[in-house]
Amino acid sequence: MTTLLQADRVWDGVAPEPIHRGFVVVEDGLITAVGRQGELGSRFDGARRLDLPGTTLLPGLINGHVHLTFSGSATPVEDYLTDVAAGPCVLTLRAVANLEAAARVGVTTVRDLGTLNDVAFAVREAAAGGRITSPRIISSGQPVTVTGGHCHWFSHQCDTPDEIRRAVRRQASAGADLVKIFATGGNLTPRTNPFAAQFTAEELRVCVAEATRLGLWVAAHAHAPEGIRRAVAAGASTIEHCLFETADGVEFDAGVAEAMAAARIGFCPTIGAGIRRALAASDPSPPVRRIRAKLPAIVAALRGLVDAGVPLLAGSDAGVTGHPFGDYPADVAALVGEDMLGLTPRRALVAATSGAAMILGLTDTGVIAPGQRADLLAVAGDPLTDIADLDRTRYVMQGGTPLALANLAEAAA
Ligand SMILES: [Zn+2]
Repeated sequence: MTTLLQADRVWDGVAPEPIHRGFVVVEDGLITAVGRQGELGSRFDGARRLDLPGTTLLPGLINGHVHLTFSGSATPVEDYLTDVAAGPCVLTLRAVANLEAAARVGVTTVRDLGTLNDVAFAVREAAAGGRITSPRIISSGQPVTVTGGHCHWFSHQCDTPDEIRRAVRRQASAGADLVKIFATGGNLTPRTNPFAAQFTAEELRVCVAEATRLGLWVAAHAHAPEGIRRAVAAGASTIEHCLFETADGVEFDAGVAEAMAAARIGFCPTIGAGIRRALAASDPSPPVRRIRAKLPAIVAALRGLVDAGVPLLAGSDAGVTGHPFGDYPADVAALVGEDMLGLTPRRALVAATSGAAMILGLTDTGVIAPGQRADLLAVAGDPLTDIADLDRTRYVMQGGTPLALANLAEAAA
């Protein structure tokens, strides 16, 4: 079946400006033509037509950092442990609900960086088969951490190079799309130290070498400078968080930023609307209070990375404290704020579409061009002018399949 979509603006995920009064043609799940309505002629007269007046059509969003089975509430760890006690079915249902919330706001790809293998890979296959309403899922499954380390609840706990090798091999064999390793402790896990490295430089090198041998990339979680430095030296493909935090401040390392830019190692800062909400909470948790005190310095470090030319990957850490999956447009929009990265709307949108695809090695999504998957999002207004419009979802197509959105009638009216 051929579908002809027409919108006031079509932005391809890359160009400086959208096509005004543009069209996109979709056949068998792929984009086959893009252009100006004035040039359509009678070429697609037989196609099913979908007019989306007042909207901007753009590539579906990529959320570069999610946790499928976290609740996104104020108490995600407590919720998680309650779900685990109730069994894998409950965890799976949590993931399915999260994924549907993401799909409904135009997220067409998520990268999951920490979920039990049995749940992560099952929902990934269900999503690929169209059996659930969900973005496409790329998943690390179970991460690699140290004994008692960050997110030990669902990770392989490894203390030697051999144990790391074994964990990476297990993940590859179970069907992981990439490997996630916790290079430092994290805020979510009591009795870990976010400001200290968890693995030695050699251990991280072993992880990357073994993953590379098996054709997998490595995403390294790192808050603190030493963990970031070791993960970059080891050749991780992305650094998650990358805030350069120390116990009482922030120590940006311009040299490591240069090395990341040169090696095209991306960073996913996972700050956005979620952090703003957490900061605004009347009774913030101790880690949030700590971040509040350091936020200007953290933002300065992240801007330092952007200025050094380090590829920026948008991602919300959906599932963790105060970051629900359905809030992703607001998270992307927050990157534009002067109190955050101060990006132009276009730059923020690139980080969630074409730029994200490039960093993740996805060659079939993130741009609107012939031959690409028909991962499309229509929002009311023009998010390239006012990024807040990204949250005005009117239509979503996932690999050529339209999602049944309640407001679709309104969009077409
Ligand atoms: Zn995370």
